[in-house]
Amino acid sequence: MVSDVIIIGGGAAGLSAAVYLKQQNKDLSVRILEALPRVGKKLALTGNGRCNITNLEIDISRYHGEDVQFCEYALNKYDRIFCENFFMELGVPFVYEYEKGYPASLQASSVVDCLRFAADELGVITHTETKVTNIQVSGGNYKVIADNLSFMAKNVIIAAGLYSGGERLGCDGSMLNILKKSGYKTVKTAPAIVQLKTETDIVKQLKGIKVDAEVSLKYGGKLIRKESGETLFCDYGLSGPPVMQVSRAVSRDEGNYEILLDIMPQSEFSDLLQILKIRTENLKNRNLDEFFTGMLNKRLGQVILKMAGCKLNESVPTLDTGKLKKITSIIKGMRFTVTGTTGFNNSQVTSGGLATWQFDNKTMMSKTDKGLYAVGEILDIDGDCGGFNLQWAWSSAFCACESILKDK
Ligand SMILES: Cc1cc2nc3c(=O)[nH]c(=O)nc-3n(C[C@H](O)[C@H](O)[C@H](O)COP(=O)(O)OP(=O)(O)OC[C@H]3O[C@@H](n4cnc5c(N)ncnc54)[C@H](O)[C@@H]3O)c2cc1C
Repeated sequence: MVSDVIIIGGGAAGLSAAVYLKQQNKDLSVRILEALPRVGKKLALTGNGRCNITNLEIDISRYHGEDVQFCEYALNKYDRIFCENFFMELGVPFVYEYEKGYPASLQASSVVDCLRFAADELGVITHTETKVTNIQVSGGNYKVIADNLSFMAKNVIIAAGLYSGGERLGCDGSMLNILKKSGYKTVKTAPAIVQLKTETDIVKQLKGIKVDAEVSLKYGGKLIRKESGETLFCDYGLSGPPVMQVSRAVSRDEGNYEILLDIMPQSEFSDLLQILKIRTENLKNRNLDEFFTGMLNKRLGQVILKMAGCKLNESVPTLDTGKLKKITSIIKGMRFTVTGTTGFNNSQVTSGGLATWQFDNKTMMSKTDKGLYAVGEILDIDGDCGGFNLQWAWSSAFCACESILKDK
């Protein structure tokens, strides 16, 4: 039997494509081939289990890739409102925390459930533990091979993601390799939205401490990107939303990156210096180990003093203006040399992938293989942290569906 559509990958893009196709035309025969024992495994883990499903500020400026314009049409045509309506029909209203959109249940697993229920109700046939190993053209159709099984289809949507989250989430880049062998060109892949490794002498001492910081990524002294928010010191380096947000450049171009943390961004240098001067007068009876107690995390305060060359058993009045200036500089710009990222297994998205010039930006169809589509993360488009990647998965999937539906 020749299916109308075979979707390779039952993740965010694949599941939404299957449901949308059947909603729009119940007579289409649609199959999902999924390598893992269940669909939506990664989707169920998104947003720390809450699924940051979209963002109020979806805009091309929040996306990356060699030709980032490629994603503009899809994001505009199948925008946040379109997706909100699509999910509302499945029983998933959205709520917003600041600009980030979530399912009202705040449960990523419920998004997977509602997609899965809809797919079943609409008659999508899902084959789990079916890992695609090849695609061939056969008599004007596609033959999709999964080990010793094969399936025929008029259209194939490749929604197989890339490496982020690692093999436990089905993300081994196998479909990218299959397409590469068939001649498709790719852009170098690298982890993005990922923790940063740094030299560890300082971060190890601060392990477990969270600060609200301004995080600046610099390369050769030049500012690459600045983000603010909760930053976590880890034994390997730095984590937290602003660190993940600035991480993309590090794994794409290895080089001399450094992170500067402003851990009191609300105070200007001169104001902070003044605050510390007053503090030395008010707390003149203390030893330095308690100088920051009440103002900063105690361990953090002590490490800052040591970084400034102070001895903790000395008394507060030993802090002269020179030392206070040094301490202020450290608080306003704690420097960390970046040594790498924690890799694909810990990253939320893969940058790079299938070069987009081989695909039509309105339909996601291959320019050389009619009826072959690529959607979601496998394409060389990745978004910022904050719901941008799932929005790309939905928008690109709906584009491919619309093309198939028109052709039918
Ligand atoms: C921990 C984590 C948290 C995240 N949180 C968010 C968030 O809150 N908001 C956000 O916008 N983005 C988030 N992301 C990113 C987002 O999950 C991805 O961008 C999105 O899932 C990509 O969708 P996709 O359908 O292209 O790929 P995936 O969702 O990765 O789905 C691909 C599917 O294809 C299957 N597959 C792969 N190869 C084959 C093969 N050869 N044969 C058959 N099946 C195959 C895989 O098993 C998988 O199920 C997060 C990612 C991670 C890892």
